[in-house]
Amino acid sequence: MTKDFFSKLWYQAWSLILVEMSGQELAWLFRPGGHLSLLAARRTTIVVTRVRLVAGLFAVLTPLWVVIDIAAFPAEVWHGLVAARLAATGAFAAILVALRRMDSMSDAYRALGMLLAVPTSFFLFSYQHMAQFELHGVQAAFAAGYAFLPFVMLAGLSIFPLTLIESLSFATPMLMMQVVAAALRWPIFDWPTVAASFWLLLLITAVSALAGLSQLGFMIVLVRESIRDRMTGCFSRHSGEELIELQFVLAERSQTPLAVAFLDLDHFKQVNDRHGHDAGDQALIGAASQMRLQLRTGDMLTRWGGEEFLVIMPNTNAMQAGHALQRVRQAGLGRRPDGTPMTASIGIAERLADAAADWRQLVEKADARMYEAKQGGRDRIVGPV
Ligand code: GH3
Ligand code: MG
Ligand code: MG
Repeated sequence: MTKDFFSKLWYQAWSLILVEMSGQELAWLFRPGGHLSLLAARRTTIVVTRVRLVAGLFAVLTPLWVVIDIAAFPAEVWHGLVAARLAATGAFAAILVALRRMDSMSDAYRALGMLLAVPTSFFLFSYQHMAQFELHGVQAAFAAGYAFLPFVMLAGLSIFPLTLIESLSFATPMLMMQVVAAALRWPIFDWPTVAASFWLLLLITAVSALAGLSQLGFMIVLVRESIRDRMTGCFSRHSGEELIELQFVLAERSQTPLAVAFLDLDHFKQVNDRHGHDAGDQALIGAASQMRLQLRTGDMLTRWGGEEFLVIMPNTNAMQAGHALQRVRQAGLGRRPDGTPMTASIGIAERLADAAADWRQLVEKADARMYEAKQGGRDRIVGPV
């Protein structure tokens, strides 16, 4: 009870800042669990693309600094540094070339983890390496530059649209690395300097996490605006195609069923002809909201065409899909303006039962069965037998 009250209060406070977001969308800012699959897909693409961009940039910039190392340091110092730089360059190039998969957020995590691992290792090595030498003047100034690497890395996190938990998870190892680096210099390090730089790192982490959050928030609002059909609130045709493509790949990979139902309202033209287009619009909105009430949370309702809908049902076999659509029919699709019930002809197809090779075949099959339902007298369901 009190927990409910406080979580409500918390969301209200955030809503004041991020006016346009719903409670569920605000929760998405904190952790990746439960993100809409289209949001996850876009985020994966952005993170992997940016990781590759940064890796490419650093694959070029890292070896350029070799010239400065050679000019600034005596041979025994620069030998090690140059070797480490070349190794880092190779690793950045490998990330650029090898990381192309962007199927799910775990690909994004792997990419980001690998990207951060390279400068982390480089930092720990160079820090340790230079600690062995007494450097003065200009050399000491250049050596100090190496200590800035963790700051740059933490600031760099800000270019990714990450949730709070993700930002903190990626920042923590880098903060720990600073502790390790300080411990390596035990007992000669001086406390105030180490504490001050750690404090600065924490501040940079907070700013980066906020930058990531605001990008993610912006993305959530944009994705929401672009994927919905404004009138009915269903997924638009375009996002429906993206959704089913994604679901088909996932179902194939996990060897699970995937059902779709193609639903076309019966004699809908009459509604427009007899009662006007506005009444037709209202009837469409009513039918969509009735369907939404009956479908499960994981089912995706798409407005495929004018008065045609496609229901995407992950992990659902033909029989279960039949039951679900029977439930929709029984609950009704609202009423026509003349008071008679709105009905629909429904075709169901299922990936395994219909041995569909791709999502287009699956939808074509459901569409063909919807047509059969029309031919058979409308107001009925035809599924795989
Ligand atoms: P059937 O039972 O064979 O499906 O008959 P029908 O009249 O529903 O079929 P048809 O495809 O010929 O007509 C669909 C109609 O839906 C045509 C169009 O005027 C109407 N429609 C499509 N989109 C909208 C919309 O957004 N608003 C309104 N009011 N009507 C729409
Ligand atoms: Mg139609
Ligand atoms: Mg129709």
